[in-house]
Amino acid sequence: MTSAPVYDIVEIGDPRLRETAKPVDLTRLDAILPIAQAMKEWMDKRGGVGIAAPQIGVGLQMMIVASRPNPRYPDAPLMQPLLLLNPLPLRYSDTTVEEWEGCLSVPGLRGKVWRPDAVDIEYFDAAGRGHQLALCGFPARIFQHEYDHLIGMTFVDRVATPLDLVSEKVFLEQILPARLAAK
Ligand SMILES: [Zn+2]
Repeated sequence: MTSAPVYDIVEIGDPRLRETAKPVDLTRLDAILPIAQAMKEWMDKRGGVGIAAPQIGVGLQMMIVASRPNPRYPDAPLMQPLLLLNPLPLRYSDTTVEEWEGCLSVPGLRGKVWRPDAVDIEYFDAAGRGHQLALCGFPARIFQHEYDHLIGMTFVDRVATPLDLVSEKVFLEQILPARLAAK
């Protein structure tokens, strides 16, 4: 008897977060549906705005980008959740912006990271169709954060200095209110 695989959130320090993810076999798309489902469930349960397959211990090039306002990201723009298979950045904007990031695999921490403001990407959808897409602003940031997971990196690797790391508590109680007041 076989039982369904059990997926759990993989946290920083686990070697699985340092591996390079392998491409999804686009001729066996039925195999990825339970993985995509588990990714979405964890993302929703933890108030994430994106998730990558290595974060549930699956070394495949899969991510969900799902910007939406929630208690962890109250000023995030709303978009339809997007499942991306074998995603690839094609071109980055010259303009870079600094923004705070959190991660389901780095609980309790936020980091300030510079990233290009826009990125053109290509990916395959759950039916195996190829797409190109231009992302800008927060969705572009989510894509770049999740893409890092596919190449064995986290936002902690991207901060310019350890001074740009703060606790989630300090972020929510001090930094976020000041940011929202300034808008
Ligand atoms: Zn992450």
